[in-house]
Amino acid sequence: MSSLANNYNRRKISFKYGKGSFLYSTSGKKYLDMVGGIAVLSLGHSHPKLVKALNKQAKKVWHISNAFQAPEGEKLAKKITKNSFADKVMFVNSGAEATEASIKVARRYFFSIGKSYKNRILCIKNSFHGRTIAAIYASGSKKMTEGFLPKVPGFDHIEFKNSKPRFPNIRKKIKKNTAAIMIETVMGEGGIKVIPDKCLKYLRKICNEKKILLILDEVQCGIGRTGKFFAFEHANIKPDITPIAKGIGGGFPIGAVLMTNKVAKCMTPGTHGSTFGGNPLAMSVGNSVLDQILKKNFLTNVTKLSKYFLNELNKIKNKYPNVIKEIRGKGLLIGIQLQSDQTKFIKSLEKNYLLTIRAAENVIRVLPPLNVKKTEIDLAIKIIKKVCKNYN
Ligand SMILES: *Cc1c(COP(=O)(O)O)cnc(C)c1O
Repeated sequence: MSSLANNYNRRKISFKYGKGSFLYSTSGKKYLDMVGGIAVLSLGHSHPKLVKALNKQAKKVWHISNAFQAPEGEKLAKKITKNSFADKVMFVNSGAEATEASIKVARRYFFSIGKSYKNRILCIKNSFHGRTIAAIYASGSKKMTEGFLPKVPGFDHIEFKNSKPRFPNIRKKIKKNTAAIMIETVMGEGGIKVIPDKCLKYLRKICNEKKILLILDEVQCGIGRTGKFFAFEHANIKPDITPIAKGIGGGFPIGAVLMTNKVAKCMTPGTHGSTFGGNPLAMSVGNSVLDQILKKNFLTNVTKLSKYFLNELNKIKNKYPNVIKEIRGKGLLIGIQLQSDQTKFIKSLEKNYLLTIRAAENVIRVLPPLNVKKTEIDLAIKIIKKVCKNYN
């Protein structure tokens, strides 16, 4: 009997090691990994530059404390601010921590300007912002909150609809005590639902008009995943606050809150903290991840690969419309929505040595590393085709 808690439904495979886009199982099988630790492995497994960065730092110093200067953190924060809307970065260790800290920043901002009554956060119903006690109530999903009463107050919800208007009655939902709108730029767990650029622009406009903050959760869709450094760049807008995590560490746990100067000013000494946040090992790996991703042409290549991948997937969809309902996504954040439950399909892909993972709405998430090779995409396409052909 396992001594691990039962809170995961684990598949019966274990891996010896990973290299690039592949995982090698203990039973000697080679799998094409398009789970990527759920959009975490931006550069695949055991990228030599990341291995080197981690080893180099491991020989110097593992951990200090935020009571002292943080040169590796300074360097990573500078890379982020140089390439984004952000003026300041606050490091934490995970996505949920980053979204929670973002909520704290929004509230503290209004406190600092004498409007502490503005403290409610407006989120999309059935979104995903992590699994901590506040984050599950931000997500507003029954599945996640069931059994965890009492309810954490301070969250209101709007629906995101596939029909128009996408956000019905949103203006009415913004009250005098609303501090911020917090949404995922692309809804990941919710089924790879891309919020259209027009809607993002509209949200930005409303936030400006109502003088509230826009928090765009890019924990899953940020750091090059959609072909831009941040997914909101497609819509040509800027948030006030953005939590990030997953892809920035390439497999090393890192989270961060990105902020404009306007809101960051309220985070004075003592307002937030994290023992491990900005740990030198994490920062060294993060620096190495961004050195690759921010290289000239890296993201253009992600877009190129994505166009090819999505196009090939749409061809399969057109050939098997009874199996596949829709191909969704942006960049290499891809969802294959099936006509019915996806469990069997994911299992069949796995039997053919392609690893993928589910999302809501019968969606199969396909999340290759951002440096995936075209030949590896071709291999995935071949396997997906084969499974479609033999489905039912
Ligand atoms: C994964 C995810 C989180 C939570 O991240 P953890 O590191 O699991 O806490 C938050 N927001 C979004 C959009 C995510 O995809």
